Amino acid sequence: MKRDYYEVLGVGRSADKDEIKKAYRKLALKYHPDKNPDNKEAEEKFKEVNEAYEVLSNDDKRRRYDQFGHAGVGSSAASGGPGAGGYADFNDIFSAFNDMFGGGGGRQRGGGSPFGGFEDVFGGGFSGGGRRTRQAGIQGTDLKIRLKLTLEEIAKGVEKTLKIKKQVACKECNGSGSKTGKTETCQTCHGAGEVRQASKTMFGQFVNIAACPTCGGEGHVVKDRCPSCYGEGIKQGEVTVKINVPAGVHDSNYLTLRGQGNAGPRGGSSGDLIVIIEELPHELFTRNGDDVILDLALGFPDLVLGTKIDVPTLDGTLKLTIPAATQPNTMLRISGKGIGHLKGGGSGDQYVRVNVHVPKELAAKEKDLLRELRKSGSITPVPGDHENEKSIFEKAKDLFT
Ligand SMILES: [Zn+2]
Ligand SMILES: [Zn+2]
Repeated sequence: MKRDYYEVLGVGRSADKDEIKKAYRKLALKYHPDKNPDNKEAEEKFKEVNEAYEVLSNDDKRRRYDQFGHAGVGSSAASGGPGAGGYADFNDIFSAFNDMFGGGGGRQRGGGSPFGGFEDVFGGGFSGGGRRTRQAGIQGTDLKIRLKLTLEEIAKGVEKTLKIKKQVACKECNGSGSKTGKTETCQTCHGAGEVRQASKTMFGQFVNIAACPTCGGEGHVVKDRCPSCYGEGIKQGEVTVKINVPAGVHDSNYLTLRGQGNAGPRGGSSGDLIVIIEELPHELFTRNGDDVILDLALGFPDLVLGTKIDVPTLDGTLKLTIPAATQPNTMLRISGKGIGHLKGGGSGDQYVRVNVHVPKELAAKEKDLLRELRKSGSITPVPGDHENEKSIFEKAKDLFT
């Protein structure tokens, strides 16, 4: 969600030019990149402050902003919105969770979605006047989509281009809802945006304050309704969005693309586009954090004598050496062939879990050879022979618990 420009500069709506300038100078100095090297947050703040000042210092732009919100100054969803193509930092998202859940939880692995009750988290914000801002119109609703990704895509990160249906600003009226761009004070609430409803109950009379049903809390209504959008300022449309998914995301993680959700009615700022990640099961690999496991059955002679084989990875095939006397359930590690870490800095590993292939059918000649082999000394195990195998098995188990 794009922040209100007055809020960004920390001034009131009636602030004069001098006040705005002063506030801007102070903030620009505070967040200036020279003073905050390599500080992404400061950089974003600096941009935001500049953008706000650009609009509020210009009489014409300020008037349009006051009337139509962000859409009035050319930053509506129809034109891509703020930060088009970018994705919100995961840290932001998780710290937002922490805020909502009072510091607990944070990022979780496996077992249950990190945002248990999605609707709860954003509780109530979707409907009604909960998120309205008077001057900037009604906030557009958030839009949720699911994005299916293969393990290969998750391993490296991927850029996806999607067509999504959403509400966009009406082109006919530039999102204002009015043919002429004019509004008039709402007759129902006389500009207050809210109405009082008295209701009598057995406990006495209650006065309930609700968003005005006529203007939806805006305080003004559209004059000369636009016939194309019936005065709403928004219409169903389709847009193309580019989504950059970083490597290492997990199933049910989500990305928030600020201001890329549904456009707000009559110039209200746009909601967010929330992209929920869905990890598709892989036919060969099992994911374990940022590592992947490949189960591989080899013939008894290969395990005994050792060999070199081609094994699939998430990124092509690779020659793997099977050492002589490899025991069943051995985990062989291929370093760096797992999934890229979400925080950056390398990847997990691929493990190949080796097992023995026991054939179900044999030719008579093969059976003869095996019978011959069975008679030879080192083939038949003797009790106490297998401490070694057990320790390897335990080791493998320890690795993954
Ligand atoms: Zn229209
Ligand atoms: Zn009203």
